[in-house]
Amino acid sequence: MNYLSTRGHPDRKRFCEILLEGLAPDGGLYLPQTYPQVDTDTLAKWRALPYNELAFEILSLYIDDIPAADLKAICAKTYTAEVFGSDEIVPLRELEDGVYLEALSNGPTLAFKDMAMQLLGNLFEYELARRGAELNILGATSGDTGSAAEYAMRGKKGVRVFMTSPDGRMSPFQQAQMFSLQDENIHNIAITGVFDDCQDIVKAVSNDLGFKRKYRIGTVNSINWARLLAQVVYYFAGYFQATASNDKPVSFTVPSGNFGNVCAGHVARMMGLPIQTLVVATNENDVLDEFFRTGVYRVRAAVDTHETSSPSMDISKASNFERFVFDLVGRDAARLRQLFVDDLGLKGSFDLSADPAFQQAAERFGFRSGRSTHADRLAMIRDTEKRFATLIDPHTADGLKAAREQLVPGVPMVVLETALPIKFAATVVEALGEEPARPKKFEGIEALPKRVVQLPADAEAVKAYIAEHCD
Ligand SMILES: *Cc1c(COP(=O)(O)O)cnc(C)c1O
Repeated sequence: MNYLSTRGHPDRKRFCEILLEGLAPDGGLYLPQTYPQVDTDTLAKWRALPYNELAFEILSLYIDDIPAADLKAICAKTYTAEVFGSDEIVPLRELEDGVYLEALSNGPTLAFKDMAMQLLGNLFEYELARRGAELNILGATSGDTGSAAEYAMRGKKGVRVFMTSPDGRMSPFQQAQMFSLQDENIHNIAITGVFDDCQDIVKAVSNDLGFKRKYRIGTVNSINWARLLAQVVYYFAGYFQATASNDKPVSFTVPSGNFGNVCAGHVARMMGLPIQTLVVATNENDVLDEFFRTGVYRVRAAVDTHETSSPSMDISKASNFERFVFDLVGRDAARLRQLFVDDLGLKGSFDLSADPAFQQAAERFGFRSGRSTHADRLAMIRDTEKRFATLIDPHTADGLKAAREQLVPGVPMVVLETALPIKFAATVVEALGEEPARPKKFEGIEALPKRVVQLPADAEAVKAYIAEHCD
């Protein structure tokens, strides 16, 4: 399998080359040259597999430069009941007739990003050892990415993590999760600014090819293809749990920010998994909902990014969206560049409303969208607790609200549970007047000593810090 850039760069790369890279050299995102097709016989075979073996089968279709036995061992080591809390890894539970929650949040940091990041940690360690190389991971997080990355990379040989986050904008629990790590290879950097400032710094540093090469900079942001690929697996696992046979369509609703999670659903659907609809759920930061309703993609300025009670979805532009738009415009790289480089660069928006491609988003690719507000989240958390005795977090509540608006009789709707309520306790308390239960291993973490430095929203300052801490 070869990978190409959405912006038309002529290079074709193998999996392990892009594993350790972020953006393609032309600023595009990597995608497989084709989507492997999965037929019903294969689905029938996969239905019975435990999660780690399913992961191996799917990953094998995209990774041909790691020996099969090694890849199998990496999957087996990653997806264990010990790390993810159950043999199913992503257990499905029915809330009411036809509406399910797929639990993706029982990993070490209690959010779905562990699903991909735990695999990435093991893939990185494997590949770096094989090359006798080192990697410095530079990341941007509004909370969940950073902690998931740090818990996946802590103590791993050959890897350092430099994680930027917007100063003071994460929940106290998230801050404590990250900043309490004392591992020497983990560096927390609090940036004076919002999440997009952090993301811009990562992009600026990655675009400085000299610095990137000299300091062996890599990324674990959701633009990393290996992360997206790992997430494809739980769409299959969710599908198998929601159906008894492989001829039934299933829809998924995905609480979305950078479009990484739902893009994995798009890939699963392109492979032939019978997904009817992919519902993109947003909060007040509704740049994606706006696109799927109107055909206009209008990125917001940092000052127009709302600070909401589902903060992991507080984005002003969706960094993985370019992957989907590439497919939407028929993989026409020149057209893609016009939209993402010319139009977004000049005007901060592009408009596909009059383009026949826009109709395809719903008709051919199955996308719908929805938006919710703080009041919607509170109502959804209350309703779910009252009627089903189930606590959900505010991001999952965004999902459930959008899912309810898109239900089709006879088609199971799987809502991805992207975090546990304890991670966003303040909002759950506001909704219910009670504190969600806290797993024992997280008791008292807010009081632990913190390891973090403060830097201005300036790529040069971050470069200097990295240079100082690499030897
Ligand atoms: C990261 C995250 C999201 C958004 O996922 P994307 O892949 O960025 O769309 C939603 N919910 C939670 C809890 C998250 O951590």
